[in-house]
Amino acid sequence: MDREKAKAAQAEVCKTAKDMYTSGLVAGTWGNISARVDDEYMVITPSGMAYDSLSADQMVIVNMNTLEYEGSLKPSIEAVVHAMIYQDRPEVNGIMHTHSNYALAVATARKEIPPICEDQVQILGGSIRLAAYEMPGTREMGAACVEALKGRQGALIANHGAISCDKTLAKAFIGSQIIEKAAMVYLFSMLIGGPVELPQEDVEFFSDFFQNKYGQR
Ligand SMILES: [Zn+2]
Repeated sequence: MDREKAKAAQAEVCKTAKDMYTSGLVAGTWGNISARVDDEYMVITPSGMAYDSLSADQMVIVNMNTLEYEGSLKPSIEAVVHAMIYQDRPEVNGIMHTHSNYALAVATARKEIPPICEDQVQILGGSIRLAAYEMPGTREMGAACVEALKGRQGALIANHGAISCDKTLAKAFIGSQIIEKAAMVYLFSMLIGGPVELPQEDVEFFSDFFQNKYGQR
């Protein structure tokens, strides 16, 4: 493992954890985030620690194959879920998992969010699917999340919350915010007759354009 890369990942995870906390996407010590170091290692937030007092060296370096970790702090119990997503998605370098309010409301109703908002389909790739309910921190939950995330950057988790993944942790953070916003829009639109889905060809166009062509050269 490249120690410099691991250190940079620890700093990034710690900073993003604090940003996530102040964003209101998580309450207390719930939720967890990670960044990939390489094909074998990732860095993840420790289990049950207050986000506002975290320091970079407390971010836990975990072997994704064995789930063995360095140091005295235990990694988040959902480390196995993060590891399975990195192993399935070589392009993914950052993952954020929250129990944010609106996402959780839709997830407890066990509904998926159809493709209804432009930013949702651009950033997350289309509908926001629902990962089946499984016990937190199990390989079964990991497999359910991997399945729901196929071709997507975000998913809901039944009765549990939401998860986003992307090429960078900063993008995964935006993904978590977009899931929460889409869930809120979905719920409010239900009050006035329900949302109208975007046409499928537009979903494909937006998703491809944003992932591959958007932004400055
Ligand atoms: Zn959770």
